[in-house]
Amino acid sequence: MKYAQNITELVGDTPLVKLNRVTQGVTDATVLVKLEYFNPGGSAKDRIAARIIDAAEREGKLKPGGTIVEPTSGNTGVGLALVAQQRGYKCIFVCPDKVSEDKRNVLTAYGAEVVVTPTAVAPDSPESYYGVSDRLAREIPGAFKPDQYSNPNGPRSHYETTGPEIWRDTDGTITHFVAGVGTGGTITGTGRYLREVSDDRVRIIGADPEGSVYSGGTGRPYFVEGVGEDFWPSAYDPSVPHEIIAVSDAKSIEMTRRLAREEGILVGGSSGMAVVAALDAASRPEVTADDVFVVLLPDSGRGYLGKIFNDKWLRAYGFGNAPAGHTIRDILS
Ligand code: PMP
Repeated sequence: MKYAQNITELVGDTPLVKLNRVTQGVTDATVLVKLEYFNPGGSAKDRIAARIIDAAEREGKLKPGGTIVEPTSGNTGVGLALVAQQRGYKCIFVCPDKVSEDKRNVLTAYGAEVVVTPTAVAPDSPESYYGVSDRLAREIPGAFKPDQYSNPNGPRSHYETTGPEIWRDTDGTITHFVAGVGTGGTITGTGRYLREVSDDRVRIIGADPEGSVYSGGTGRPYFVEGVGEDFWPSAYDPSVPHEIIAVSDAKSIEMTRRLAREEGILVGGSSGMAVVAALDAASRPEVTADDVFVVLLPDSGRGYLGKIFNDKWLRAYGFGNAPAGHTIRDILS
């Protein structure tokens, strides 16, 4: 019989698939995408949840009956909720009221508690979602706050799993690795492993929404979710990527929609963004048919059906006739 002992055993070992249409006329290189939506919670964040909880147990920060408190509304919450539930921990997630009810319902479906805070307060206010999660972590006995932005087990999980999987599945032929940068955990851990194992032959490329600090922006708003920052988290090691490519919202959205229609790959906006950056790098004159690009696609498009895949919503935000290269901010202002 072939079965997993429990759902968390199915985290990782996600497949690679070749892009065939969107690469046509752009590059002769092989472009492979790693589908992280094959993880049981639907994203790459399942990997860090498992490692962060393992380490907290080892270090005595999380004891039986303990409570995990984190300000998150997205993929990290799902990963933490599913691992925590399997191990008998309680989860409390704090998110601002701008987060859609659907997203909150996913977390409560896994048995987590969601505390909603007002969006219209300063980040340093005690009522902000950071403020409330800090207070809950202080006041609840046995509480543990993972803090994905500074927890070294985030990048470590990618160093120990994502990197080795890619090296193994490409038989060591990978020449370029491309990933979006959010907390920076994925690019830092995976990139570090691939640089080390290849004697620094693999080129590491970060993809960043135009406006975010990683590509030299000021942190001004952009549309694509889960990537880009307005501060420098310690989970990110800027010495790992060789370069960062900035991608506009409009291009990210267009590619995300093409991946679904032309490749049968329904993924989120940060995945489209990473593919745009990969094709940008793969179209350079020095790239040949021998090059093998691996692009990490963090999550599924199911979470974005009301936005990226909704024509009415996009038109309302001006994307219907957005000139190429423009961001949502440019279009709206
Ligand atoms: N895309 C999505 C949808 C995400 O949720 C995240 C995580 N914030 C990322 C990309 C970026 O991953 P990382 O935090 O490891 O940089």
